[in-house]
Amino acid sequence: MPEPAQHADVVIVGAGVAGLLAAHRLTRAGVPTLVLEAGPCVGGRMSTEKVDGFRLDRIGRLLCTSYPELRRTPGLDTLVLRPFSPGVLVHSDGRRHRAGELPAARRAMGALTTARALASAPRVPRPRSPRPTAPLGSPLDHARLARSLARLAGTPVPRLLARPELPAADALMGRGLPARTLDGFVRPLLSALLCDPDLTSSSRCADLALLAYARGRLCVPEGGADALPELLAAGLPPGTVRTGVRVRAISANSVTTEEHGELRCRATLLATGARAAAGLLPGLRVPDFHPVTVVHHAVPEPPLTDPALLLDADRLGPVAYSAVLSQVDPTRAPAGRALVSSTVLGPPPPERELRAQLAALYGTSTSDWETLAVHHDPEAVPAMPAPHDLRRPVRLLHGLYVCGDHRGTSTVQGALHSGRRAAHAILTDLGVRRAPTAGMVPAAA
Ligand SMILES: Cc1cc2nc3c(=O)[nH]c(=O)nc-3n(C[C@H](O)[C@H](O)[C@H](O)COP(=O)(O)OP(=O)(O)OC[C@H]3O[C@@H](n4cnc5c(N)ncnc54)[C@H](O)[C@@H]3O)c2cc1C
Repeated sequence: MPEPAQHADVVIVGAGVAGLLAAHRLTRAGVPTLVLEAGPCVGGRMSTEKVDGFRLDRIGRLLCTSYPELRRTPGLDTLVLRPFSPGVLVHSDGRRHRAGELPAARRAMGALTTARALASAPRVPRPRSPRPTAPLGSPLDHARLARSLARLAGTPVPRLLARPELPAADALMGRGLPARTLDGFVRPLLSALLCDPDLTSSSRCADLALLAYARGRLCVPEGGADALPELLAAGLPPGTVRTGVRVRAISANSVTTEEHGELRCRATLLATGARAAAGLLPGLRVPDFHPVTVVHHAVPEPPLTDPALLLDADRLGPVAYSAVLSQVDPTRAPAGRALVSSTVLGPPPPERELRAQLAALYGTSTSDWETLAVHHDPEAVPAMPAPHDLRRPVRLLHGLYVCGDHRGTSTVQGALHSGRRAAHAILTDLGVRRAPTAGMVPAAA
């Protein structure tokens, strides 16, 4: 730890993905930067616990291969993303149904999908039999859904954001989709992506989440959620990140830590979660939060071989979605065992209810499933009700900046993007030329 007199141009408080991304941008531009993290390791909410050879994420684990920040951040290009199988499995009426698959040509293009490629994608064949299939309805409904997802994938972000902003649940009613498509696919998927079971979030955030889904594939980082922050930290000059250092006061030109007193600097970036940020800067707003619980089970045999995301359209119980995560990413479980991870959008449920629902979803007994961990975070995800500002200011005044998922969208993409914006503002104020960004693409959040 530097002595109090030692100087870093910029001190960043918090080594979550937002703070780490900002540190990347600043150090690449040649600005001496120090990241102070209260916890024992980097990653913040994106941490992974290791238990008996299992790798257990503390967070729900839905990333999209199309998140722009995953592609445009130097150093993240080596992050291995394990995709779920195309579309999702929706459990309804006692059966599992595949839904929300994009036409094969677009799937193959994955994250590299462009509007031009969309135009050359084959048309979805007209279904021959209108025989109804729950939960999405007839094959025609499936085809309509695929076409509207394909259309969405080609829609420029500014056009999407120009739509009137409403609570997502209300906006969905006016989109011309049949009720069975809404209830059987769109609502359960959006609830999972936004961690918002009642879809009170802004329709703009919902549109961006669906856009990311339509343009890429749902995925998880290989080895655990912490692979992403660890990769970011590994790309920083040695000594940039100090863990186990709690900041208790900040100003534009100094940071006071519990352990080491005051550090002087030219700029301070607050990159903590929303509540901790408001504790250090009392003028900052504390949003409402969506609570999330993640439950991990070790099972002797995978109850489903398909590496799919399984959604419960009928809301049989507390679990919103579940997956045999070791089928998606085999590094998550030791040989000969499987890992089932399930997400509850609320407080930890009674064990009996949870197991009964998982037994129904997977069509198997759960009596020999071993509970490995239950991670609950009452402030997992900042709520984003309409009207929601997708670019809340990151520059508070010259020398004082703030970033994190509460400054944009409450996702990993949103957190990373806010870190990029904050670094940009600092470099501008310091009069430093920015390092060029490889593969610039329009931001989707
Ligand atoms: C259960 C759960 C499920 C989620 N599911 C998804 C999902 O499916 N998809 C998705 O995209 N996102 C999801 N998220 C959200 C995503 O994890 C966050 O948006 C993102 O990780 C936030 O990163 P951040 O850098 O803004 O904040 P954080 O990760 O919270 O980092 C802030 C850091 O600041 C540190 N800190 C705080 N106070 C101090 C202090 N005084 N001094 C020093 N350091 C301090 C903290 O220890 C922490 O490391 C989920 C989150 C949770 C909890």
